[in-house]
Amino acid sequence: MRKELLLFEKSSPGRRGASLPSLSPEEQGRLKLFPKDLRRTLPPPLPELSEPEVVRHFTRLSQWNYSIDTNFYPLGSCTMKYNPKINEEMARLSGWVNSHPYQPEETIQGSLQLLYELEHYLAEITGMDALSLQPAAGAHGELTGILMIRAYHQSRGRPRSKILIPDTAHGTNPASSTMANYQTIQIKSSTEGRLSPRDVAAAMDDEVAALMLTNPNTLGLFETHIKEICDIVHKKGGLVYCDGANLNAIMGKTRVGDIGVDVLHINLHKTFTTPHGGGGPGAGPVGVKAILKPFLPTPLIEKRGEVFSLNYNQPKSIGKVQAFYGNFGILVRAYTYIREMGPEGLKRVSELAVLNANYIRKKLEGTFDIPFGQDILHEVIISDKTLKGTDVKTLDFAKRIIDYGMHPPTIYFPLVVPGAFMIEPTETESIETLDQFCEAMLSIAKEVQETPEIVHKAPHTTRVGRIDEVKAARELRLRYSHDSSNKSINKP
Ligand SMILES: *Cc1c(COP(=O)(O)O)cnc(C)c1O
Repeated sequence: MRKELLLFEKSSPGRRGASLPSLSPEEQGRLKLFPKDLRRTLPPPLPELSEPEVVRHFTRLSQWNYSIDTNFYPLGSCTMKYNPKINEEMARLSGWVNSHPYQPEETIQGSLQLLYELEHYLAEITGMDALSLQPAAGAHGELTGILMIRAYHQSRGRPRSKILIPDTAHGTNPASSTMANYQTIQIKSSTEGRLSPRDVAAAMDDEVAALMLTNPNTLGLFETHIKEICDIVHKKGGLVYCDGANLNAIMGKTRVGDIGVDVLHINLHKTFTTPHGGGGPGAGPVGVKAILKPFLPTPLIEKRGEVFSLNYNQPKSIGKVQAFYGNFGILVRAYTYIREMGPEGLKRVSELAVLNANYIRKKLEGTFDIPFGQDILHEVIISDKTLKGTDVKTLDFAKRIIDYGMHPPTIYFPLVVPGAFMIEPTETESIETLDQFCEAMLSIAKEVQETPEIVHKAPHTTRVGRIDEVKAARELRLRYSHDSSNKSINKP
């Protein structure tokens, strides 16, 4: 396969992507308006290429990427939903694109109305009293939530020192707790994969600021004792945080706000079809019960009569957690999705997401070990038991799925399942796609027994095969040297 050179390597002096007229003498004269020490003496060391060279380079690179627009992407916990194209069209409407957050409020009434209504839809869906759209991701929503919990306890005397987190939690939960200067106390899940009220009661004292639970949890199970657990925590003056990343399984069916949770985050890129990652803008709104409302990030978006306004007068607020009012373009996409689906549509999404996961469970359970397979909701977790007695690892198996044209599921998480595969199909996949995936899984299970060397060396069909992930993480190279005699990377 042809190697794709860097633009810097393809550069040829004098080549241009755009042709601008040269400066007139009068314009040349204007350069002198800039102080001499601020004027360049040499042009910037940028690659010089024609427009088609640049377009082809990036188009080729984009085609090597795997995406939800090209194929099945069953990452567990991450809910890689298809992103409807109508969202993109709505986010590109010129009224949004050409407005600026510093415009006077009376000129951005439509934008404020959209934010206000989105907050209310999300509060309605989750059963919370108020919401902030500012946090830029789920993890950021967690930190925002924990900072509000800290401010709440501080306002009552002292912030307390510990946060309880179950062993099935996503890694961001203990990370957020630590960033907010709390000690994380891990709680073991029961044998059925759920939190038990007895274990929470045993760990609960007046140093515990909050319990962080996830519902449905990362084993794909509904936490059936939440009400009782919330009562235990509240009795000792603690608060309950719910990680709502898995909302796609229960949306329109149940609301954690009604069960006693005080604060939760949701991930618009998981449940509400906004694009995932790439380091780009995201949104992890955080919802609270009335007792935490005074601590929400500023500004609050308010409505008086038919007029929308921004209220910065929140003396107990934890402050701002993001520029302006959050990542507006992302919020437009989530709003579009909610308006398009309506209440019945959102409920149907949860039903189909759960149905699809259980369809996969049924097809795989004869061959694979599914340790918490009773009553799963949106995801199926398989252990590495079928690989026992072979030298094939979960990672090898996952890489082989790529050769079958699909993205591997999440692996080695949750930590309580040995060598876990975590499969979440979401609601939009057809029965043919689910069948194809299950056939691939069953076929690879056979290969593990018959031709393990093929599985070991997978993937065989990609431009890049196995990479040394440890080396990549340890010897990070971010800078390209312009000196062509020295293609090595600048040392710091
Ligand atoms: C994805 C996820 C998070 C973190 O959300 P980001 O938006 O990726 O920051 C937290 N908890 C759970 C259970 C998740 O699945």
